[in-house]
Amino acid sequence: METAALPLVTARPAILDQPAESLRAWLAERGQPPLRLKQIRRWLVSGRAESFEQMSDLPRELRAQLTAAFEPLGTHVAIHQAARDGTHKLLLRLPDGGQVECVLIQDETRRTACISTQVGCGMGCVFCASGLNGVERNLTGGEIVEQLVRLRNLLPANERLTNIVVMGMGEPLANLDNLLTALEDAGDKNGLGIGARHVTISTVGLPAKIRQLADTGKQHHLAVSLHAPNDRLRTQIVPTNDKIGLAAILDAADYFFKMTGRQVTFEYVLLGGLNDHWTHARELGGLLEGRKAHVNLIPFNEVEGLPYRRPDDESLAGFVQQLQRAGVSVKVRKRKGSEIDAACGQLRRRAAAS
Ligand code: SF4
Repeated sequence: METAALPLVTARPAILDQPAESLRAWLAERGQPPLRLKQIRRWLVSGRAESFEQMSDLPRELRAQLTAAFEPLGTHVAIHQAARDGTHKLLLRLPDGGQVECVLIQDETRRTACISTQVGCGMGCVFCASGLNGVERNLTGGEIVEQLVRLRNLLPANERLTNIVVMGMGEPLANLDNLLTALEDAGDKNGLGIGARHVTISTVGLPAKIRQLADTGKQHHLAVSLHAPNDRLRTQIVPTNDKIGLAAILDAADYFFKMTGRQVTFEYVLLGGLNDHWTHARELGGLLEGRKAHVNLIPFNEVEGLPYRRPDDESLAGFVQQLQRAGVSVKVRKRKGSEIDAACGQLRRRAAAS
């Protein structure tokens, strides 16, 4: 199923992006008590309201004033795709016309939101549609929370989001401050109630930011995208590696483990014929030796216009076997939502081209 609505560009600011103090002042100027702020947030974040008019316990006049001054949600759903396995993908149009993707992934027990942190991405991983035109800007904290709200609103009334994976468009650690603000909000027990232990933050590896994340003392889960077992190959696949290098990234990952006690996951996109040989797996096993690490293998999802292909079954099996032989915990990620443009950045690219 796919629905597309004409996206709106609006001049009214989104209410979730307003600092609490300025909203309290705005309410006070209209003779409203500070508790109204809580009511408004509760309606948006847990009450599933998408308009101020639905906020039935607010005075009618205040609802009209809010409608004139703010957008309840600043994003608009430009495209909604739904797959038979329960995966939903939204292309959200932002107030300035930028577009980002977010995905709801459902399995027996979990309702996981995969969210974006930037419009575009500056990391330039060669296999990724999101990075093809570079980064446009960071998302605000409110725009990150809105993705969660929009995805949660797709679920039946008796269900809630259980997990967040920050693996959509953008490099999350390049927008760490706004991300942490949004995750703080997402963890609020009176709101979405998704605690740090249920949040996975994925990065291509910005060592200083990994350390900063570790120093927050929060129990987030960290996933570091390696994609290659040596610097030469990694720089070919992840160009930013040139200035950073695997050793610095692994050092920072070790620091994260030391500070949080949380095992780091290493992500590895398998590109047929490029980084999927069993000798790469052997080298990767050597690199991770002595570390409490888990490897997630992601067979590449082919993207129109990019020259990379899925690994064949034989290479995939050989890669897994070799890692297991080296004593590394390994899993192959299952493909969800295969009939929709589930690979990060594909939907936005297609919408931009049409
Ligand atoms: S894979 Fe992630 S980090 Fe790399 S270009 Fe795409 S969005 Fe950016």
